[in-house]
Amino acid sequence: MTPPTPSSVDPASALARCGDGSMTWDVLAVRQGTLHTRRSHVFLLHDVYGEPDADLVMSYSFWILRTEDAVILVDAGMSEEGARSRGRGYERSVTIALAELDLRPEDVTRVIVSHAHYDHIGGLSELPGRPVTMAAEEYAFWRTDASRRPLLRTVIDDADLGHLESIAADGLLTLCTGVTEVAPGVVVVPAPGHTPGELAVLVRTSAGIVVLACDAAHLDEELERDLPFRHQTDLLAMYDSLRLLRVLARDPAVATVVTGHDPRVQQRHPHLPGLEHVSIVARR
Ligand SMILES: [Zn+2]
Repeated sequence: MTPPTPSSVDPASALARCGDGSMTWDVLAVRQGTLHTRRSHVFLLHDVYGEPDADLVMSYSFWILRTEDAVILVDAGMSEEGARSRGRGYERSVTIALAELDLRPEDVTRVIVSHAHYDHIGGLSELPGRPVTMAAEEYAFWRTDASRRPLLRTVIDDADLGHLESIAADGLLTLCTGVTEVAPGVVVVPAPGHTPGELAVLVRTSAGIVVLACDAAHLDEELERDLPFRHQTDLLAMYDSLRLLRVLARDPAVATVVTGHDPRVQQRHPHLPGLEHVSIVARR
């Protein structure tokens, strides 16, 4: 099976799939952890650019899409073990983050998994019985021998993959291919390169369409300056996904593009009163 490349995604028709605005969503970014690192540790082949190294902060987040009668999580965050074993600052579990918003795991109607790295599916074990949607290419890839190479495996936890398999065995895993409507006003778009089945998510809000880049673009600078991230399975696809995101960002229907790990997302948007780690990206 040939995975769809971003060049097969027509940005205008993907945006049109977000509907006419009759269904709109709140979009919240919830920070779960932080990493203080270096630019040379983040950007692929950083030395090629001839720029000085410097400190860089990454945040670890998941996103909540909320409407009258549904709560969709985009990604499930990290497990405590997944975070601490890699030296990530771990600030709160998914369960606690939800409770702070008066939500219980059973209130989550669906989880969209952008890709299977530890910081995006580690919290699935805290969401038992919740239906999950992810790309067929992503689920298939991490079950292949090719995916077992150490450079690919450092950001994967076998326990998390086992949990995905149990979700599939319970009949709760929906695998999608190509641009797919997950709910009215919520559309996933293939944006591979970081992983084979990386997804970005388009969400209709009262402000326009919010593009959750997830890890198709970790940082604003990655997107703006075309600087690929260190972890990738296909560099050309990654470049093409960055290009797709820039095309989407320029479209007048798009309110904002939210990169997956940039702390500037929290600085750009107001936070919920008393919850400085929960940013209100847009309202329904
Ligand atoms: Zn990530």
